[in-house]
Amino acid sequence: MENHRDLERVKKRLLEEKHRILSKLAKEKEEEKNNRDRQAVGDDVDQAVALEEEKLRSALSAMDIQKLRSIDNALRRIEEGTYGYCEECGEPIEEGRLLAKPFAILCVRCKEEKERKRF
Ligand SMILES: [Zn+2]
Repeated sequence: MENHRDLERVKKRLLEEKHRILSKLAKEKEEEKNNRDRQAVGDDVDQAVALEEEKLRSALSAMDIQKLRSIDNALRRIEEGTYGYCEECGEPIEEGRLLAKPFAILCVRCKEEKERKRF
């Protein structure tokens, strides 16, 4: 991924993805607020359901926030000129992997290694 034009394209993709997540989170926040307003007049059952929904939503939001961090990280690495290299072993990340997941910071080998350790 030495090519400058490619990097610009990746950067654009990352910024688009970031924008998409941010507007999704903003929309969720708005819905949450609406739900709370509704809850104020709802009964206990409604509130229990709403609580479950909120739990699910915040779990999803946590994933999105995680993704946002990865995107920011990738954007920073583009600026630094270290984008496309594995954070763990320093080897270039497989191009196919970067195409599928432009914010990947680990090569497939290191990622699998990490996942093995985690489970
Ligand atoms: Zn690696």
